[in-house]
This record gives sequence, C-alpha cells and structure tokens, in this order.
Amino acid sequence: MDISIHMTVVVHAWRFATHLNHLALPIWTAAVVFADKRKLKKRDSQANCRFCGAALKHTFVDLGMSPPCEAILAQSQLNQMEAFYPLHVFVCDSCFLVQLQEYVAPENIFTEYAYFSSYSDSWLAHAKSYARRMIERFGFDRQSQVIEVGSNDGYLLQYFVDVGIPVLGIEPAANVAKVAVSKGIPTLVKFFGAELAEQLQSEGMEADLLLGNNVLAHVPNLRSFVKGMKILLKPQGILTLEFPHLMRLMEDNQFDTIYHEHFSYFSFLTARKVLAEFGLTVFDVEELPTHGGSLRVYARHSENAAQPVTSRVQELATREIEAGFTRLETYASFAEKVKETKRRILRFLIRAKGEGKTVVGYGAPGKGNTLLNYCGIRTDFLDYTVDRNPYKHGKFLAGTHIPVFDPARIRETKPDYILILPWNLKDEIAQQLSYVHEWGCRLAVPIPEIEILP
Ligand SMILES: [Zn+2]
Repeated sequence: MDISIHMTVVVHAWRFATHLNHLALPIWTAAVVFADKRKLKKRDSQANCRFCGAALKHTFVDLGMSPPCEAILAQSQLNQMEAFYPLHVFVCDSCFLVQLQEYVAPENIFTEYAYFSSYSDSWLAHAKSYARRMIERFGFDRQSQVIEVGSNDGYLLQYFVDVGIPVLGIEPAANVAKVAVSKGIPTLVKFFGAELAEQLQSEGMEADLLLGNNVLAHVPNLRSFVKGMKILLKPQGILTLEFPHLMRLMEDNQFDTIYHEHFSYFSFLTARKVLAEFGLTVFDVEELPTHGGSLRVYARHSENAAQPVTSRVQELATREIEAGFTRLETYASFAEKVKETKRRILRFLIRAKGEGKTVVGYGAPGKGNTLLNYCGIRTDFLDYTVDRNPYKHGKFLAGTHIPVFDPARIRETKPDYILILPWNLKDEIAQQLSYVHEWGCRLAVPIPEIEILP
C-alpha cells in the first residue's frame, strides 16, 4: 500500500469514527478495518436502502463498534489486533426496511462458519415438524424437488431425504456444506442470487418447494436474491421463508439479534412489499416462537391463483399498521429502550460481583457477542462461557476474550449464576441445567430484561 492510499484510508477512518462519535481507540480499529481492502465494501458513511434505493437518514439503533459476531479466537490470536465494525442500524423512510450496511463482505463471514444447526435439539424438532407439515399440506412426494437456500449442515433437508423426496441444498460455508454432503444431502457450495438461479434453471433444476430459513436477513443483495427465488420456483411451486419478525425484536428488546451478518430486519409489511416487487404473492403467514419470534411467509407466483390468500395475511398486515410500522416515530423510539436494557443488565452483574458471587455464561451464540460487546461485559463479570459445539471449545469470544469451555466445566466450578446468552432457547437450556440447583446456582436471562429464573 503506498503512502497516499494509506492517508486516504486514515482520513476516511477518522471521518467515520467522528461521525459515530467514538473516541480514540475505535479510530485505530477503524483504520485497521479500512486498511484491509478484502473486507471493505463501503467506506462512505452515506448509504442507500438495499431494497428501494432511498438515502438512509434515520438511525434505528447504534450499538457502537463490534467484532464480526461469528468470529471466535484461538489462544494464539489473543494478542493480535481485531477488526471491529459499526453496528449502526438505519431505517428507510420510504419502504421501512430496517437495515445494516454491508460493512463485512459475506465472503468473509460465511465461507468458514462456526454455526452448525444440528447442535440445537429444539431447532432439529422445528425442522422435522416443518418437513412433515409441508408434505401434508402440499402433497410433496418422490416426484417433487425441494431446494433449500442456506441449507447449513442439512439439519432440515434430511427429513425430506428420509421419505425419499429429492433435495438440493445451497450453502456458501464450505465446512458446513461438507457435513451435509457426508450425510447424503446434495449441497452446492455457492452464494444464492439471480445468476445461480438462472444457471440451475438452464440445467433443468426448479423447485416445487423452495425454502429459505433464516437466510433472507443475511442477504446483502436482497434484490438479486428475491429475483433468483422467482426464477427457481416452478409455476405451481411453493416458496417459504422464515425470518425474525421485526415487531417481536422491538417489542422484546432483542437488540442482541442485530449483528453484522444480519443485513435486514423485516416487518411483515416490508417483506410482503419486497416479494411483490418480484412477482411473488404472499398467500399465508404463521407466527413462530423460533429466534425470539419469527414469521414463516408462504409465497407463490403472482400468476398462480391455485393458492388463495388466507385471512391471516390481512390480519397481520392490519396489526402492524395499527402498531405503527408505517410511521417513522415508531422506529425512532427503539434506541432508548436498548440503552435502558443495558443499564439493567449491568446493575445485576455489578450487584452479583459486589456480593462476591461467581457468574458464568451459557452458550456462545452470535447474539451473545453483540450483547457482551455492547454492554462491555468481559471476564470482569463472566469467568467463562460454555457451549455444546466442540468447535468452540478452548477458544475465546471475539472482542471480549471470554473463554469457551465444554458444559462439563459448570459442574466442576459450581458458579452462583449462569447467564443464558441464547435466551431464545432458555427453556431447553434450563432443562439441561436443572442439576445446577444442587448447589443453589441461579439462572439469569438477559432479554427482554434481566430476569433471574426461579
Ligand atoms: Zn427503502
């Protein structure tokens, strides 16, 4: 890198950091970020809506600087500098898409991904029941083709394979896709978009059931993604998408589900508008408890009238309009609520430590990294965290450097409190941890606000 480019980088970093009202340290981390061109997508703080193109002028919430949430550090990396990126979320005043700019390119997030869906029992049960319900409702059989975008380790497609329905997974993370292939689930290691859809279609591959679970939020090029779905869907095909529901995120203070790989946060109204733009009509919707409250949206080609639009579609649209999702003020009120949640979590931790108690974490999910970094919780509050995923054992959480161990560590150290970071799985985890009551340990859940479980 020559001097002039380097100067530009530093000036941009300075302007950027100033813009975000951060002090000396983030300026240098920002300089490091901008020096790495492979990870650089946007150096301009002016951005446009990824759906409608309007200028983004309104902050939804600003969680400061945070490392990529799925990053996990080996011991040897602890003395190295880390990249921190802004978690500054905007709301578009034209289409109300709540969104994060693409600060980290997906190639840097998703090609080696530590999240294996099959490590969660409740997630597997959810996938199994989905497969069964789709087969019952739409009559898919051995002549049907199921295609899943973001198929992870085959956690869901396996239930279609079990009953002999042909499947194809599309998954950009090579390490995760490899696990799927080893289970007998054909998987393409690719990012999905219009180009790939056209290629597959030209090879005669089209979907009777096309699904994307928790993938819509992760897509930086939303328009190409939805256009691709339109291309890949057979004329009578069914498209289902699951994504966290913005209404629930706001109602339940789930600010920790905001992280760099979640580029978009959808209300039902905005999701429906995005699909309609590409000739896809939403004909049904279900509200699910997964990930703190998700929507499962059913769509079809607008030309295909075989699936009538259910009353649930209008009912939810009306509910969102009444809750204010078509007014900017509704979105603007969220930021203050988040700050108060942080203060409450810290009050609990300070009190516990003041009483000489030990506190550890449970889980090492992406949302944990957002929460811990935003709240400034390190080993001064949490001695360690544990996770069932062996990939994470012996490693350290990004930014906070909290060590991650096997759950067996809890019985060995007998802490006084366990803070459950994947609060969306709190019932399952509380059950797994029922033995900790033996020594009087209490479980704490940080969201929607800090709560000590009975
Ligand atoms: Zn917009």
